[in-house]
Amino acid sequence: MEKGRAKLNHYLPCTPLCSLSSRALPPSLRLELDRGNIMAAAVEEEVIIVGAGQSGIAVAACLSLRGVRSRVLERDDCVGSLWRKRAYDRLHLHLAKQYCALPHLPHQDEAPTYLSRDDYARYLDGYAARFTVRTRLRREVRSARFDTGGSGRWKVEAVDLATGRAEAYAARFLVVAAGENDEKLVPEVPGLEAFPGPVVHAAEYRSAEGMRGKAVLVVGCGNSGMEIAYDLAVGGAITSIAVRSELHLMNREIWNVAMTLYGYHVPLWVIDKLILLMCAVVFGDTARHGLRRPAVGPFTMRHTTLAYPVMDVGAYAKIRSGEVRVLPAAVKSARGNVVEFADGSRYPFDAIVLATGYRSTVRRWLQSDDGLIGDDGMAARSYPEHWKGKNGLYCAGMVRRGIYGSYEDAELIAGDISELLRPNKKQDKGDGAAHTNGSC
Ligand SMILES: Cc1cc2nc3c(=O)[nH]c(=O)nc-3n(C[C@H](O)[C@H](O)[C@H](O)COP(=O)(O)OP(=O)(O)OC[C@H]3O[C@@H](n4cnc5c(N)ncnc54)[C@H](O)[C@@H]3O)c2cc1C
Repeated sequence: MEKGRAKLNHYLPCTPLCSLSSRALPPSLRLELDRGNIMAAAVEEEVIIVGAGQSGIAVAACLSLRGVRSRVLERDDCVGSLWRKRAYDRLHLHLAKQYCALPHLPHQDEAPTYLSRDDYARYLDGYAARFTVRTRLRREVRSARFDTGGSGRWKVEAVDLATGRAEAYAARFLVVAAGENDEKLVPEVPGLEAFPGPVVHAAEYRSAEGMRGKAVLVVGCGNSGMEIAYDLAVGGAITSIAVRSELHLMNREIWNVAMTLYGYHVPLWVIDKLILLMCAVVFGDTARHGLRRPAVGPFTMRHTTLAYPVMDVGAYAKIRSGEVRVLPAAVKSARGNVVEFADGSRYPFDAIVLATGYRSTVRRWLQSDDGLIGDDGMAARSYPEHWKGKNGLYCAGMVRRGIYGSYEDAELIAGDISELLRPNKKQDKGDGAAHTNGSC
């Protein structure tokens, strides 16, 4: 673990564009006059996709299979960077592989039922190669707006992070696939900046290396927090986890039963009753160990609030055995190496892992107020009406529906764009919110 919180420097200064002669440009480029100055040679594309995570490459693949060319702009230097650079070593997908494939490329029979982080990252690489996804890596999109002046194009400005040079793109369609987990969410805790040991976000945590015998506090009891607590305990750290909210502890096998029942249209309340019964048999009363369950059942909750249950991968046994201590309160402040909790308790720690979540950054660059993306950078409308805006704007992977959500969004968006591009097809200028019957 490294000391302090690493800060991603996403906002490098832009180098002014060199002036360009239109005669020197290839046909795919054209000079664009902006505010009276020659600002950029806009690269013309049919579709610009922002983000080369699973959502972005799935949209590109589905478009490609329908004969539509697209260009994916990605800030990082690889596809699927979340899995390569922001996920801990122990991570495995929570759902069985049949629920974790992107369109047109199921996982191989010999692949494990629950893919590891590295298996899935390799799958994404293979996927992008198989469908010849056209990416431009290390391109950070800084602004995107629809030209109401008549060109009918999205004007996208990006920066090549390798050179610092600004680039301009123009496209009839813009797909926002920039991720719901783009930026680390770090809570304001007075005194935390002076904590003497390492303080890292879950996005930076890789393994328990160097933590044996150290007192480590994990803040946050979602899937990442629980799994990291387990990882630390296995690695010999004296582990505590701060649990301030109620949660549904589950395991992957029980959740797969729920998914199967849902596929047979079993009502949500029946699924909840069945899986809570299974949870009672497997886990007993989790509240006895500081993990209170919400009143709403886990499957209903997933559908109504999008909150995902916590998939136990071994943390609960460590909690029961006392190897992981549950501190049932929010972190209030830190003084030196002592952390104070909302219930007044105080404990010293050597290191802290903040498993406190992420946020979208789309609102920083998308200049559109058509109601597709809300103030929080996520899809403003709920599933299944979330994916299509006005003027050829779409979003993929922005309603907390995981890999399966990326799958569905890609098919819907590619289908819609290819339909609009059919010769003689009149372009739909309305809000066009579409409907689908997807599963969880
Ligand atoms: C630790 C963790 C474990 C998860 N496990 C599961 C699981 O087991 N099963 C499941 O279904 N879901 C899981 N999820 C949720 C979900 O599947 C992921 O969040 C998934 O990565 C979303 O894919 P995406 O392509 O929409 O976004 P991302 O993977 O976040 O990709 C978005 C891409 O956009 C790029 N980008 C952002 N802004 C810009 C910009 N301005 N310019 C250029 N590029 C930009 C980013 O660099 C990034 O590469 C997990 C999430 C996390 C964080």
